[in-house]
Amino acid sequence: MGVALFTLGGTISMAGRTHGGESVRRLNGADLTAAVPDLARLGMTLDIHDIDAVPSANLTFTHVLDLVDCASHAVKAGARGVVVTQGTDTLEETAFLADLVWPHTEPFVLTGAMRNPTLAGPDGPANLLAATRTAASPASHGLGALVVFNDEIHAARWVRKTHSTSTAAFASPNTGPIGHVIEGHARVLTTPARHRTSYPRPEALDTTRVGLHTVTLDDDADIVAAVAEKSHGLVIAGFGVGHVPSELADLLGTLAERMPVVLTSRTGSGSVLRHTYGSVGSEADLQRRGLINGGLLDPYKARILLRLMLAGGADREAVIAAFADHG
Ligand code: ASP
Repeated sequence: MGVALFTLGGTISMAGRTHGGESVRRLNGADLTAAVPDLARLGMTLDIHDIDAVPSANLTFTHVLDLVDCASHAVKAGARGVVVTQGTDTLEETAFLADLVWPHTEPFVLTGAMRNPTLAGPDGPANLLAATRTAASPASHGLGALVVFNDEIHAARWVRKTHSTSTAAFASPNTGPIGHVIEGHARVLTTPARHRTSYPRPEALDTTRVGLHTVTLDDDADIVAAVAEKSHGLVIAGFGVGHVPSELADLLGTLAERMPVVLTSRTGSGSVLRHTYGSVGSEADLQRRGLINGGLLDPYKARILLRLMLAGGADREAVIAAFADHG
């Protein structure tokens, strides 16, 4: 059996032009695959499903969960792996969400492009080929959701979009890529720790709000309170190892009494600490006030996990346990 390809739009498909000359989507899955003759030489079928052609900024949890359901059907029908093409802007988040809910050993591989097909040296065709090779490879089994870009294989759990335009935009700052596509073969060099269980589709997505506030110099508690007001959970992207201005500490402690508040770092890599600094607003102080340590999870992934859990009815203990596991 072959690989199932799902297309969701994004730069990889943007060969069209508006009257003003800006790029818009034009290519569907058949066009994308026709541009990569080597796909036909892989000697397997590529079962194409064109889903929504949207800029990835418009994707929602529901889009991703629906896609995972469709991909699940494809795997149950015999596909040896799944490839998803989408816009790169939210790909680190969609990949992590898919990773949390993907129940199969067959790989779920996401890719896209940084240069659209009308530019010199578009990276979409090479990324699509590398992603398909990775999805078809037994080496990828049991690794959950993977992101393949620039001939690198990244675990969804650690990958970040780290550049706005570079074809090397995807990186895993804490771990590096887990593998490479070398002379057409997926070589997995290290195996990421997998989540203990895959999460079921949550009941209450539409009514579950999780806010994210990035702490900044001379921050304003009223802004944090406004973000929290309608939220059922909150992620704080703190300074460095998980610090906030001392003026915010009381408010965050009060909020943590009424909802899970997860502490992460705004730095882009590394972990928040647990017991190194003790001043008001430090990581140890905030944990004493009830904030949950997000560990190595970046703020965006922490928000995905927290919303998925709260929408599924998880209580505070379950949220703490999940962050201990994932972070
Ligand atoms: N803005 C585009 C998107 O995320 C960028 C891309 O595809 O790379 O849909």
